[in-house]
Amino acid sequence: MRIFKFGGASVKDAEGVRNVVNVLQKTGHENTVVVVSAMGKTTNAMEKVVNAYFQNKDQVDAAIQEVVEYHKAILHDLFEPKNHEIHHTVNRLIEEFKGFLIWNKSPKYAFVYDQVVGYGELISTAIVSHYLNDFGLKNEWIDVREMIKTNNSYRDAEVDWERTQQQVKKKIDPQKLNITQGFLGSDENNFTTTLGREGSDYTAAILGYCLDAASVTIWKDVPGVLNADPRHFSETRKLEQINYREAIELAFYGASVIHPKTLQPLQQKEIQLYVKSFLHPEDAGTVVGKGVKIAPEIPCFIVKKNQVLLKLSSLDFSFIVEDSISAIFKLFHDYRLKVDLIQNSAISFSVCLDNKFNGLKGLLPILSERFKVTCHKEVSLFTIRHFNEEAVASLLNGYDVLVEQRGKETVQFVVK
Ligand code: ADP
Ligand code: ASP
Ligand code: MG
Repeated sequence: MRIFKFGGASVKDAEGVRNVVNVLQKTGHENTVVVVSAMGKTTNAMEKVVNAYFQNKDQVDAAIQEVVEYHKAILHDLFEPKNHEIHHTVNRLIEEFKGFLIWNKSPKYAFVYDQVVGYGELISTAIVSHYLNDFGLKNEWIDVREMIKTNNSYRDAEVDWERTQQQVKKKIDPQKLNITQGFLGSDENNFTTTLGREGSDYTAAILGYCLDAASVTIWKDVPGVLNADPRHFSETRKLEQINYREAIELAFYGASVIHPKTLQPLQQKEIQLYVKSFLHPEDAGTVVGKGVKIAPEIPCFIVKKNQVLLKLSSLDFSFIVEDSISAIFKLFHDYRLKVDLIQNSAISFSVCLDNKFNGLKGLLPILSERFKVTCHKEVSLFTIRHFNEEAVASLLNGYDVLVEQRGKETVQFVVK
């Protein structure tokens, strides 16, 4: 059994969907689960719908229309005749979330978000499934929400492994070609949940774990895991192989080619992860496996932009120690701030945070009651794994370093 995951970039247009056929023809298509994300930037477009719903109702229809037009263009390119069943399926899905927005009574942003944005994945998988069927690649379309069971922490749901395992075994026929959605799950009351932005890689790993897959392959628009993000660095090199620990470190610090939660389930069962180019499916890509030494062994650069640096110091020169630190961390958890890096001294405490759920605004006044707070917004977190001084100098050129932390293998800088 193999798991394939096709991300947004791989199915961003009709050509991309045709290429899924090409990849499956070249690599075989039995005993496979194919996880598909929303097409292109659809999740961003769905977020616009939700934001309009909460902030500016007049804009909702226009935001929905953007999603509709984008998918219509792809449908018209892919399917003949005009009355092909897929048009009805996609229309029905669009009517479903429009209907939800009309009848919804919940004022909770995160809940509404999850009920709406996931239609990006439901639509994309319907399109891919029909297209493959027409092409003779007979497949089963499965609603992943019936398999991946989670708690109700909307927008960042946690997997209930036991129930998920049971459901996956029930729903997936390992002999067949199965098509399902990334990113989604459902809670106890069967409301849709999401696993966090870019979470479809994680879906592939969850399914791989539950099915004891031989491998998981994530098909990307890059040749594999590179030693730096090609969007920020002009010279990059592909890593041929890395071990799980290395991949976890890279992903955790922000190498967005792999979602950070993807690695742990795979490591537990020693399932190999391949990161490969969807344009060159025959190429080796990067293999992530057990105990392999990073090759080539070169510095790896990771840039995480748009972070927040908080410096807290006590108002009365008292120490910032266990009790205050634990209270601070509880607040980070409550306000859904993700901690990237911490540094403390006797009377001050610095922390670099990802404010992806916008909790900072609510948190700052509460922290200010107990601490002197300095807040630097829009800082970047730079990480170099396997660093040397030349790599450090080239990365820091022109930046103002606010915090520095060095370990044996990793150096990190918060910079402005
Ligand atoms: P998906 O289509 O699956 O959502 P992503 O866009 O999330 O794919 O991931 C692929 C992108 O990750 C690449 O286009 C690249 O810009 C970025 N990226 C960041 N860090 C790295 C890295 N170290 N190696 C390769 N790609 C990286
Ligand atoms: N479609 C979702 C997102 O854009 C999940 C994913 O692509 O991994 O975040
Ligand atoms: Mg993505």
